[in-house]
Amino acid sequence: MEIVRRILRMKEIVRGWHRQGRTIGFVPTMGYLHEGHLSLIRESKRMTDHTVVSIFVNPLQFGPREDYDRYPRDLDRDVEILSRESVDVLFYPSVEDMYPPGYRTYIDVEGLSQKWEGASRPGHFRGVATVVCKLFHIVQPDFAFFGQKDAQQFVILRRMVQDLNMDVELIQLPIVRESDGLAMSSRNVYLSPEERTVAPRLYQALQVGRRLVQEEGERDAEKIVEAVRSFLAQEPRIRIDYVALVDLEDLEPIETVRGPALLAAAIYLGPTRLIDNVTLNTK
Ligand code: AMP
Repeated sequence: MEIVRRILRMKEIVRGWHRQGRTIGFVPTMGYLHEGHLSLIRESKRMTDHTVVSIFVNPLQFGPREDYDRYPRDLDRDVEILSRESVDVLFYPSVEDMYPPGYRTYIDVEGLSQKWEGASRPGHFRGVATVVCKLFHIVQPDFAFFGQKDAQQFVILRRMVQDLNMDVELIQLPIVRESDGLAMSSRNVYLSPEERTVAPRLYQALQVGRRLVQEEGERDAEKIVEAVRSFLAQEPRIRIDYVALVDLEDLEPIETVRGPALLAAAIYLGPTRLIDNVTLNTK
């Protein structure tokens, strides 16, 4: 595996692959890799000739009071994991190279970026869309792989790719979970042992909603959201940020579940913010 720090070198490698007619798969990450990331990498390796994984903790997508400084980082461990997976290139650019002095260009996917996660994290999706757009230009992938964990991010990036006529196909893969149901996340290390025992409640609450729809035939979104909320409220250490039952395309709240829909939630557990979601089917 080649570790590439410079943008020009990354472009040079990509040019070579394209000249030879090879396909490129790309997995953008912020590092501190876990099995969720690995599921994306393995699918990229299965589908494409060459796989590039990026590790970049993007300052642009963190709010001023968020965890940019203390976001977990362990490059040595990540390099070991990626080498074992036989990834072709780890792209690991510096903040200074990605946003040099005078940097002025930003991507704003309007409307979709302001709700749910965006409402709680102003500017977050502007940072995400900007960095992913830059990375796509540098890596020029045929396929890019994302986890359903960040379902809203996927909807926003799909819109960006369509709106900007980008030649990349986005692939979304299911959430990888710990054995007790907690969605894997680099941020789970923030949880105290006590908070860690409470954390699976988020997924359990979403399952309450899913069962209501898929086993009991409930279709009233308000009732479903209320059931999820009251399950979460039983645990005093959990503070609900939002519970949303939304359309999979435009992320607007739905009143009645008629087809596939997204049930998503964000909570605070102590200082740590956790997100999770499930898709609901009516068949
Ligand atoms: P991150 O490093 O947290 O920015 O995540 C990089 C990519 O991994 C994103 O596409 C995430 O959606 C995806 N990802 C994160 N956690 C999981 C998970 N538990 N299962 C599947 N994909 C995940």
